[in-house]
Amino acid sequence: MKILQLDVNRIGFKLIAPEAKVYEQTDQKETSVDNAVVLLTSVEAEDSEEIASKAVKDALDFATKQKRTTLVFYPFAHLSGNLEAPQRAMKLFHYMVSEAKKSKLNVYSAPFGWNKALTLDVKGHPLAEMSRSYAKDIVTEEKTHLTLLPPKPKKVDLSIVRKSDFSGLPDADHRSIAEKLNLFSFQEVSPGMAYWHGDGYIVFKELVRFIREKLDEYGYEEIATPAFANVALWHVSGHIDHYRNNMFLLSSEGEEMALKPMNCPSTMLVFKSRKWSYRDLPVRLADFDKLYRNEISGALTGLFRVREITQDDAHLFVTDGQVQGELTAVLKLVGELYRKFNLPFTAKLSTMPDSHLGDEELWERATTALRNALEANHVPYTVKEKEGAFYGPKIDFDVMDSMKREWQCATVQLDYQLPQRFGLEYTGEDGKPHTPVVIHRVIYGSLERFIGILTEHYQGKFPTWLAPVQVKVLTISEQANQYAQEVYAKLRESKIRAELDVSDKTLDYKIREGQVKQVPYMLILGAKEVEQKKVAIRGRGNRQKLGVGLEHFIKSLQKEIEERDEGQNIFLSGAEPKEAPAAAKPTTTKARGKKAAEK
Ligand SMILES: [Zn+2]
Repeated sequence: MKILQLDVNRIGFKLIAPEAKVYEQTDQKETSVDNAVVLLTSVEAEDSEEIASKAVKDALDFATKQKRTTLVFYPFAHLSGNLEAPQRAMKLFHYMVSEAKKSKLNVYSAPFGWNKALTLDVKGHPLAEMSRSYAKDIVTEEKTHLTLLPPKPKKVDLSIVRKSDFSGLPDADHRSIAEKLNLFSFQEVSPGMAYWHGDGYIVFKELVRFIREKLDEYGYEEIATPAFANVALWHVSGHIDHYRNNMFLLSSEGEEMALKPMNCPSTMLVFKSRKWSYRDLPVRLADFDKLYRNEISGALTGLFRVREITQDDAHLFVTDGQVQGELTAVLKLVGELYRKFNLPFTAKLSTMPDSHLGDEELWERATTALRNALEANHVPYTVKEKEGAFYGPKIDFDVMDSMKREWQCATVQLDYQLPQRFGLEYTGEDGKPHTPVVIHRVIYGSLERFIGILTEHYQGKFPTWLAPVQVKVLTISEQANQYAQEVYAKLRESKIRAELDVSDKTLDYKIREGQVKQVPYMLILGAKEVEQKKVAIRGRGNRQKLGVGLEHFIKSLQKEIEERDEGQNIFLSGAEPKEAPAAAKPTTTKARGKKAAEK
């Protein structure tokens, strides 16, 4: 059974026509429900009442935890390629509805076997979308192998290598913006994994560069570990019990191997590979390796939920006495990073759950350390009682984007368990072996998801430091081509990402192309600019400045990029270059600018 569980503000559906011979008789043509947990459900061959009951129980638990009082079952065939025959699927679907009705929740179900028009308004929090998979004997290793080995493609020709089609999505969706700006694509042969195009990968690399600078400043080392390891590794860490269904398992030379879904275990191995003294601590190991998580493909929504993830991950190995100071530094880093993007954030402190490892005194100490770090950094926070991981308390950060949606990005977690499971040690001041404490932390969280958020937050108008093309040089007439080449060369020499258009397209057309690509600056060069050896600048929001010296423009731009400034300061009145001659006469250039502005 495959379920896509959604926490929604609203679900609405309208019956169009029965889809097959087997369908549910109903008079209810149109329904709309607010604030509900929706279960898009695919009943698969071999599903049983036992599996169905387990799925219902998980959904009820989730709804109770999220304090929702309404549950909506929605038959949805698109999650599985292994569907049960309709008659039996409908029976099992109705069994689930009747099971759920035994609870205190209000339970609705959409009629089975109908073609329906569906509208969903999913809430913005990180757990609002969750994919679940249920099967019999899921723990049988051989069976897991068999199901995970890829079946031979049915037809091997060009039709299987095609780009995922995102047409029809709203213009504000990051996938629509990416299509327009040529940032990335998804290909059907790699469901849920981004293909980064040159321009999109610039955004990716700039974000990594930004945090790498911070890592140097904060004393991290960067490591890299294999994508592939024997599953024994996750047995040691204990992740296999919680994560097996989300791992890509493979077999090699008779051994069961897996692609890593998280970095923690392999980072433990790097620490364990040498001897440490208390003087060496804290040791801060960062990495940007790719991680692989087997999400149900029907649940993948562009960059927000992917199977190949890059985290800006780090593990800090510290003594008990260093916990507080290190946490404070991590929170400071979170603030420095998010403020650059004008993303307001709030923090949530999750405390000891009922089922936990380790003694309560240790938990108390860890929770106090997190609380103190929040307070020392003046970070407003709320407490989520009993919501911590089973091995330690944590702080989650939600950022709010320009559309007032909240996203969970950064997480800081204190861990006393993994270091023990891996037998990590350092020699203390007393000459005896001690176990370090590990702080797991991500700041962006998943780079893919963060880029999805930023793409929508800026609606493709990335600040100059992130913009794939920072300056577009374009000419009004052929006369300016030679000068444009010089300007372009100078920009490239100055490490500015520039593009040159000396084609004979009309000026309006060239400007429009730059605007579609959301290029922050366009330099428009005509006879006057050639004669004066100046540039006419056109910025965002149709701001213009004529007769600017190229050197001045480059300096101002370099400063804007280096400081990762979101504003276009060259247009501020105080930034007027001293060497500028009297303003160019408002002849052709200005008139032209106006014309384009009307578009
Ligand atoms: Zn970790």
